Formats: sequence, C-alpha cells, structure tokens
Amino acid sequence: MSTRQLPPQDPDHIRVLDILEQTMADGPGFRTSIYCAGCLHHCKGCHNPQSWDFKGGKEYSVGELLDIIKADDMSNVSFSGGDPFFQVDAFTNLARRIKEETDKTIWCWTGFTKEEIDADERLSKLLPYIDVLVDGPFVLEERDTNLLFRGSPNQRIIYLKGKPVEDDIPGTVPLVKFR
Ligand code: SF4
Repeated sequence: MSTRQLPPQDPDHIRVLDILEQTMADGPGFRTSIYCAGCLHHCKGCHNPQSWDFKGGKEYSVGELLDIIKADDMSNVSFSGGDPFFQVDAFTNLARRIKEETDKTIWCWTGFTKEEIDADERLSKLLPYIDVLVDGPFVLEERDTNLLFRGSPNQRIIYLKGKPVEDDIPGTVPLVKFR
C-alpha cells in the first residue's frame, strides 16, 4: 500500500496508543503528548513498531482529547505516534480547535517529508495549525543519539510559524517561544 493511500478517516475520532501528560520528552517545556496508532512508513529500526497497527490502542473523540489538553494550563501539545498524518482529518479538527480555544503551541512528528505533505492537498490541511513539524522517516544507517527530538539527521525541525527565540535553561531542553 502506498503511504498516500490513507486508511479510512473518522474526522471526529482518533485512535490513541498513549497520552503522556506534563512530559518534557517531546519538544521544549511541559507538553501533553498524544501518541496515535498507525503508521505505514515502516522505517527499518523504528523505535516503536507496535505503533504501526491502526487498530491498536483506544479510540478517543476529538472533544475528549481537547478536554485533556485544556485541563493542563501549563503544558503545550505534541502529536506523535505512529504518524498523525495517517489520521489527518481528525488531527486537523483537533489542532484547529486547540488553536481556536487555547494559546498552546503544537509540535508534530511525521514520517512524511514536508515536501510530500505540501504536495498532497489532504495532508497539507493540517499544517496551518502546527507550529513545529519534525519531518521525514527514521534512517537507521544514519542514527544519531545526540540529536535533539529526532533519530537521524535527515529529519528536520521545521518552525512553520517563523523564527523561534530560544532560551537555554541549564539542565533542561531549550525553551522555544514564538514571535
Ligand atoms: S515514521 Fe516513526 S513510527 Fe512510523 S515507522 Fe518511521 S519511525 Fe516508526
């Protein structure tokens, strides 16, 4: 199956493997991380091949996820998986509501490149609501454990809303603010 052949979409529900609250692992500062189920990239050496199954985890409505995200005043938001772009309709709805109803930033990890997303009308509708995209497949032969927030150097941290201002706080990852 081509990665462009998306599985059937339910715009109101997301299949979720895990939700981490107040994590500092998925972007700068405290974040609510939504780990979705399902990925067709099947990168060699994937850190989480159990996330490939689209039937894994549990189904949440967009409203339920929004309530969890809004309940934490301190945390921004991260989408990971799996690959959120394989559930692009529901993630677009969730991201739109996060932007309409909160001032939280959204980081999103994907195995697609930004160029692939830009070229696909359906995938690209999620991008306007994302602040930072970490893109591209994991390449085992180029694995680098020193990289921040990604596994191989082909993966890019792309600031979709402009240049970040980074404050280095000793002992933590850089805090990224957006102008
Ligand atoms: S995109 Fe991520 S979750 Fe999907 S196979 Fe590659 S490393 Fe694994």
